[in-house]
Amino acid sequence: MQVEHTVPLSKRTFWGIGGVADTLITVEHIAELPPLWAQLHASKTPCRILGKGSNTAWADAGFRGTVVHLSAAERYWQPQPEGKMLLIADAGVIMSQLVEDTARAGYADLERMAGIPGQLGGFVRGNAEAFGSGTWESLQWVDMCDGAGQLWRIVVTQRPENGVHSRNRAKTSQTPYGAGERYQITSLEDPTAIPHTREILPQLYSYRMSIFKAHDDWGVLRAGFLLSVRDDPEATLQRVQSLSAHRWQTYPPGRTGGSTFINPPGAYAGRLLEEAGAKGQHCGGIEITQQHANFFRNTGHGTQEELLTLMRQYRERVERSTGICLTPEVVLLDEWGRERRDY
Ligand SMILES: Cc1cc2nc3c(=O)[nH]c(=O)nc-3n(C[C@H](O)[C@H](O)[C@H](O)COP(=O)(O)OP(=O)(O)OC[C@H]3O[C@@H](n4cnc5c(N)ncnc54)[C@H](O)[C@@H]3O)c2cc1C
Repeated sequence: MQVEHTVPLSKRTFWGIGGVADTLITVEHIAELPPLWAQLHASKTPCRILGKGSNTAWADAGFRGTVVHLSAAERYWQPQPEGKMLLIADAGVIMSQLVEDTARAGYADLERMAGIPGQLGGFVRGNAEAFGSGTWESLQWVDMCDGAGQLWRIVVTQRPENGVHSRNRAKTSQTPYGAGERYQITSLEDPTAIPHTREILPQLYSYRMSIFKAHDDWGVLRAGFLLSVRDDPEATLQRVQSLSAHRWQTYPPGRTGGSTFINPPGAYAGRLLEEAGAKGQHCGGIEITQQHANFFRNTGHGTQEELLTLMRQYRERVERSTGICLTPEVVLLDEWGRERRDY
């Protein structure tokens, strides 16, 4: 473990926004996280796990607590019957690298997520996805710890038939949820279920959502993907690399946090914002890009307050003209590491 004090958070996020954190601890092995996490919670020290920071804007006043960065990036391949593969990866794994590795191994399950920035832990929390193919669709289980340092395994037991992406949501009046259960486990080396701790989780994940968003004290430690879509390794890798290159050519350049708002059922947030006149608008150092109205860019010295002001302004305009209330996808944190809800 590496401990640093007075750490500028702007250097740790894609947006380049945020003041100074009191402490930052880098955890290199997932087994180190549960006792540290328990100790921080027991001493009531504000704490937050940070992945690659591609979806996060810290407060301009910084963070009066401890940021925990997981650099743990082990991965294990366990062949399964019928040519399937269980891939177990630590939460600190860079997802774009993992997607390339699965392609090289001749599995195409994750290819549509090629090039999306971030670590596995952030992907699990936000159910990152592209073209309707989400992280949780391929997940078998997630190992996590809670604020008391207890270890749990969450198992996916039920997936919506046609996935959870926005086009499917448009056809139904209800949000489709994946379901699961969780049980406490003895250790990470021997994840045997502890009897009597089984809990049903009827709303485990949905479009750009997971149960982790409702539990800030749950840390993702590692996850198991069941890979089953076999394809030629060279051809799969080529598709992954060209999709990734295409993605980075079409993302608006500069310091952004990806899509600012989630697509509402049956509509695109970017289009709604564009129709509300958002493109090219700015507040201080933050501007809404000309290329994509759902991408908000830091042009140099933008602040979280300016970002929030612009988000509020165009969220209100969209709601006034369409009645649709956009849900932020990006994570804006206050000085105590809590997610801001005052947009
Ligand atoms: C240019 C650009 C394009 C993008 N395109 C897409 C896209 O196509 N599809 C998509 O879905 N997303 C996209 N995103 C958003 C981003 O890639 C995802 O949200 C990604 O999952 C964030 O991962 P991260 O490691 O950067 O998370 P961070 O920004 O570091 O953290 C995000 C949240 O997850 C929490 N977190 C991180 N690690 C853990 C952990 N181990 N346990 C518990 N909580 C944790 C943090 O506390 C925070 O609340 C894009 C972002 C950018 C900048």
